[in-house]
Amino acid sequence: MKTYLTRRDFLRGAALVSISAAIPRFGSVARAQDAPVKRWYKGNLHMHNQWSDGEVFPEQAVAWYKDRGWDFICPSDHNDFQSLDLRFTSFGSRPQMTDEMVAAFEGETSLWKPIKCDAVSNKLEQKFVDDAIAQLGSENVKIKEVGGMTFVRMTPFDELVEKFVEPDKFLMIPGYEHTGSCVDGRAVHMNFIGVRDHFGYNKKIEEPIDQLRETFAKGKERFGDVPYLFTANHPLWRFYDVNPSALMGNPAIRVFELINNGIHKDFQRRMDLWEPEKFWDVVNAWRATNDQPLLLGMGSDDRHVYTGDSKGWTKVRASKLEWTELLTAINEGDMYPSNGLDFEDVSFDGKTLAVKIDVKDDGRYKIDFVGTKKGYDPTCKIVQVEKSETTPERKVEAYSDEIGVVLESVEGTEASYTLKSDDLYVRAKIYRADDDPALKWKTKPAAWTQPWR
Ligand SMILES: [Zn+2]
Ligand SMILES: [Zn+2]
Repeated sequence: MKTYLTRRDFLRGAALVSISAAIPRFGSVARAQDAPVKRWYKGNLHMHNQWSDGEVFPEQAVAWYKDRGWDFICPSDHNDFQSLDLRFTSFGSRPQMTDEMVAAFEGETSLWKPIKCDAVSNKLEQKFVDDAIAQLGSENVKIKEVGGMTFVRMTPFDELVEKFVEPDKFLMIPGYEHTGSCVDGRAVHMNFIGVRDHFGYNKKIEEPIDQLRETFAKGKERFGDVPYLFTANHPLWRFYDVNPSALMGNPAIRVFELINNGIHKDFQRRMDLWEPEKFWDVVNAWRATNDQPLLLGMGSDDRHVYTGDSKGWTKVRASKLEWTELLTAINEGDMYPSNGLDFEDVSFDGKTLAVKIDVKDDGRYKIDFVGTKKGYDPTCKIVQVEKSETTPERKVEAYSDEIGVVLESVEGTEASYTLKSDDLYVRAKIYRADDDPALKWKTKPAAWTQPWR
């Protein structure tokens, strides 16, 4: 197995203070003879179920991943953690409860969510309850008729852990998605992964850069004692809501979602504006120039509807399927986002990035090494997008073509690239050589290493 070295900027600004302190600095990681063997674990740290606005019940959501061989997940519902506390209000669901109605739930725990009816509008439609009963059995779907509404109990995290978690086989990590928007409606979503609580969203903030900064800082105050991960989610959603400068101005934020659900269905993509890969390079060209920790990329499918193949995951290399191990690897950059392909190996020795594709289907493959050169043009222009039927009004940042260029492209399943003196950083992307290059980035199966310098 190749020696895997951490990068020099790993220690700085990591979201996870308590774990990072235990990691040796770059260059000092001589692998011990008896070092444990590491392997890739496949996971998704961003998904939803009926605890918020996903279509299926919690058990169905967890089973979806476990049955398909995923190793770890975080059921990251919107603005709530699936605790045992008895309550009736949840994301998008606010039934009016009288004291008498509440009294009918004495001794009960967890969230009781009313089925959608005239009195309450939410995602829990009768058909989803029927599906859950058919799949899970009526004994596993607790229902109560109270005050003219039908309430269904949502299984809390700890009970899901009891049902699904198996050592070395399947891991569940607690967490939630902190979701809301700035004053003008631009969405800024962030995941807190590894936490068992949540705090409220501040909707009075005007700019995404400030929303990210404040939420990140509040999270440190609130969760700083536990090993958790903070991610900046889907910058493209709903429609170019978070520009690159928001993450240039927040260098303490280490991880963002490169792969997620793209643009909201109500809006039309503008192919002349940035794509998530360009977003990543813009932030990292700036961070590398300013000696800040590079931004790492994750993949998730942010699943709400449980049909169809997954188009996003993250693989993390660790010696054990335990959260602290995975988190250490994530902070070291020993992970990659994918929407269809996989790496067998990735290594960076301080100068050379080497990759090997895990070939599952025969065919021709390409490996692109992508980076930005020192002295690139950092100019940012603002593209004003006017409000129309297919676009909301937006100011979208546009950057030079000198950012995120292909430094070298190799056809094959294995390749390496040695940093040159004028490279700010390098990352690798793998894809099928026969894929039409004009395909949108999301529809072309690929995988991406982290950027290294
Ligand atoms: Zn979101
Ligand atoms: Zn989400």
